[in-house]
Formats: sequence, C-alpha cells, structure tokens
Amino acid sequence: MTLGPEWALDWTRLTAQAMTEHRAELIELDRQIGDGDHGENMFRGFSAVVAKLDALAEPPTTVGDVLKLVATTLMSTVGGAAGPLYGTAYLRAAKVTMVDDLDGAGVVAMLEAGLEGIVVRGKANPGEKTMVDAWTPAVAAAVAAARDGATPTEVLTAAAGAAEQGAKDTKDLLATKGRASYLGERSIGHIDPGATSSALVIRAAAETAARVAG
Ligand code: ADP
Ligand code: MG
Repeated sequence: MTLGPEWALDWTRLTAQAMTEHRAELIELDRQIGDGDHGENMFRGFSAVVAKLDALAEPPTTVGDVLKLVATTLMSTVGGAAGPLYGTAYLRAAKVTMVDDLDGAGVVAMLEAGLEGIVVRGKANPGEKTMVDAWTPAVAAAVAAARDGATPTEVLTAAAGAAEQGAKDTKDLLATKGRASYLGERSIGHIDPGATSSALVIRAAAETAARVAG
C-alpha cells in the first residue's frame, strides 16, 4: 500500500486535533524552560491550517500540495521559533512529495527532508535539546525500517516510536539552542516542548497511515 493526498489531509487534520488535545501540556512544558507559548503557537497554527483546508476549492492532488499549504500557513500564523522551523520542515518535505503516492522510501525521503529543513533553519545539532532530538531518531528508525522492506505505515510507526523516545530523552539534556538555552543548567530535568510536538506530528502520520493503508 502507498500513501496519497487523502492520507496527507487526514494526517494534517489529526495533527490539528493532537495540537488541540495537547495544547495545555505543550504550554506547560514551554513554561518550564521557555516562555509558555508553544502550545498556543501550535494550536493557532494548525487551526489556521484546518481553516485553509476547509476552504480549498479543489482537492489536492499530491501529498506535497498538502504539506506546502501547511508550510505557508504555519510560516504566516505561528510566531516564535517554531513557526519558521516547522514551516521550513514542511516546505522541504513538500518538495520531495509532489508525486502521486508514497511508498516506504518516499516516506523516508519526506522525513529526511523535514529534518533537513529544521537543521537548515535552526542550525541545531542532535543533543542540544530541540525538536532535532525527536526528528533525528525518527529518521534513523525510518531508514532502518525501509531498508528491511517495511510498508509506509510500518516506516511511520517506527519513526513515531523513536520520536516519542527521543522527546522523552530530551529531559536529561542541557539546552544550548533556542530560548531554553538561556536557562543553562536549569534546563536539565525538563522535556523539550518542540520535541514533544514533533513526536505528536509524526505519531499522527503513523496513525492515519494505519487507517488508510493498513
Ligand atoms: P519560542 O522559543 O520562540 O517561544 P516556541 O515556544 O513555539 O518558540 O518553540 C520552542 C521550540 O522550538 C523548542 O522547544 C525547540 O524544540 C525548538 N527550537 C528552538 N530553537 C531551535 C533551533 N535552533 N533548532 C531547532 N529547534 C529549535
Ligand atoms: Mg515558546
């Protein structure tokens, strides 16, 4: 089975739902090591995305069409660090998904492009307590799964599990990028909000893939 624009729409809508459900949690995480706006930023951004999807005159024809809409909307509606970071991730991912359907390798390419976008924009290395610490293990797990011949759903499920673990593992890290770095040693002992929202995005991709493609 492969994943097409219908899946991308479902993924985006489920992501919006996840940001609504986890809004308070993301705010609380960002309150600990930032300025407490991450949950609001993500909620506002994805609410705007859903409004744009609802207003579409024509259904999108590729996964990339959907991801590009997400990118431009997040860039224009989300303030703070997360807007441009996610915006660039989705924009890069859109560029490699302007195709009819994604197989396992296509999903890997999409995730790799997303991570590349975050790194290009934010210049963070793994271990600096940012969303890169969710995306890096997610991409590694996706690559390994695809190498073993996994389906797109299996690739995304492996990526989601690794992203969730990566997000949890940010707790023990010292923040050296972004607002949390202002706290120095006091950033240790708290989970990174952007890594947490990243794991939600990737989990939503896996859940909707299981629904539409099995
Ligand atoms: P702000 O920090 O401007 O308030 P948000 O609260 O929405 O923006 O987003 C904070 C998240 O952004 C952090 O938890 C971290 O994951 C991510 N982040 C910040 N700076 C960087 C960076 N340079 N590279 C990657 N991710 C970053
Ligand atoms: Mg913040």
